Amino acid sequence: MSTFMLGVDIGTTSTKTVVFALDGRVLAQHAVEYPLLCTAPGMAEQDPLQIYAAVLESIASAVRAANATPAQIALVSFSAAMHSLIALDSDNQPLTNSITWADNRASVWAGRIRDEFDGQAIYARTGTPIHPMSPLCKLMWLRHEHAAIFARTARFVGVKEYVFFRLFGRWLVDHSIASATGLLNLQQLQWDRAALALVGVDATQLSPLVPTTEVVQGLDATLAAQLGLRSDTPFVVGANDGVLSNLGVNAIAPGQVAVTIGTSGAMRSVIDRPVTDPSGRTFCYALTQQHWVIGGPVNNGGNIFRWVRDELATAEAQAAREAGIDPYEALTQIAERITPGAEGLLFHPYLAGERAPLWNADLRGSFFGLALHHRKEHMIRAALEGVIFNLYSILPAVEDLIGPTTRMMATGGFARSALWRQMMADIFNREVEVPQSVESSCLGAAVLGLYALRMVPSLAVIADMVGSTNRHVPIAENVAVYERLRPIFMAIPHKLTQQYQALAAFQRSQH
Ligand code: ADP
Repeated sequence: MSTFMLGVDIGTTSTKTVVFALDGRVLAQHAVEYPLLCTAPGMAEQDPLQIYAAVLESIASAVRAANATPAQIALVSFSAAMHSLIALDSDNQPLTNSITWADNRASVWAGRIRDEFDGQAIYARTGTPIHPMSPLCKLMWLRHEHAAIFARTARFVGVKEYVFFRLFGRWLVDHSIASATGLLNLQQLQWDRAALALVGVDATQLSPLVPTTEVVQGLDATLAAQLGLRSDTPFVVGANDGVLSNLGVNAIAPGQVAVTIGTSGAMRSVIDRPVTDPSGRTFCYALTQQHWVIGGPVNNGGNIFRWVRDELATAEAQAAREAGIDPYEALTQIAERITPGAEGLLFHPYLAGERAPLWNADLRGSFFGLALHHRKEHMIRAALEGVIFNLYSILPAVEDLIGPTTRMMATGGFARSALWRQMMADIFNREVEVPQSVESSCLGAAVLGLYALRMVPSLAVIADMVGSTNRHVPIAENVAVYERLRPIFMAIPHKLTQQYQALAAFQRSQH
């Protein structure tokens, strides 16, 4: 009798396996970390062999921790980080590491694709913004700047494909990971010929496409024993971590938006067909052929609060540490002393350039509106508000495409702060709910696995698996303040494009 399901998330910092009961309860988990290799400017790579070893170890350890017998495990289903690229030779040996989404070395080529090769048309067909994160841009970079490797490459794959090949000896890529490469034609669900022609890659060099519900079986007996599974335990290929996180927090119905603020941030909403934005502001990635996720990622999320803690409010953070208080909690209390809107102080949080909705790496941060009455606590509050204003600025793009949104789910480290959650409710003027689920991508993968094996009738079963912890209702007088400030905040980056560009060029010239 099967009683367990495994969700495996191959992430950028670790691979995590969670063992769930079939009703979604977490029974055990195990994460195995690996380093990000950053030895050259802009580089962010990982060793695919290390990742494969981590996948094996995390599955085996989680199964052991749950005391599960092979017969009890109904399925193993996968989530993985988007946009990774590995070049392999004709013997399937890696010629490169896994080049991750965080790698920036293709940025010049991203600019050229945008400006010289009608990037907007490629985006409109493929749903992936033209950005150095995408395999499309990385392939262009490899072809032109590492021609010898490019010429020797028999096959280009992502990290989940590599793991499945090592497990089953079969190349396959799910529609979800493929939809984040910049190479998949979303309407046809085929590799996009014009995009492939641009980067000089033949479709035979890419993996065959399969639905996210594809089931693979036939583990080698020794490997199965090592993992604590049966040879015929069903492995569901699954999807990417972003779309599965929406599923895992039960934000899959029309009008629901999931907003995550961890180190970076994102806003995502599910619709029933692929759509792209005429102004290129949003991504569109597959969850299943009937569920598509649109939204935008931001570079500037919790990293801004960390910057405030480490650079701006150093003394306050240190005092908190000495008093045995979490510095984030202490700084939140300081920000709380100031009224919403920080008495007219705005903070643009573009410390790491920005992706959605402006897609401009040259944007830079600033305080705007400083006056003599502003103190450090105003700055702290303005910084927290700026992160939310910036995420809010994606919402018009999302609503232009899918209509009005009503319900918001907040996840990520910021959701620990009641002040920050209330700010979100007030700035968005929407009710904000915090789902109970931890490891939402793993839960999303497991539920997709149940659906793939027809053990449940639809993905909607997630609603019974996720509770909610906190709920915040907008406070009318705060909403009124933020509605006055929001247009000022949003107008500034549009007005300063040239000045951001000139200043970013100056900063680069100093390094
Ligand atoms: P990751 O993106 O690495 O998974 P998390 O989701 O844990 O990270 O988020 C980390 C961020 O969450 C921190 O940078 C910080 O901004 C924020 N954070 C963590 N703890 C708190 C807290 N108590 N109050 C407010 N924000 C917090």
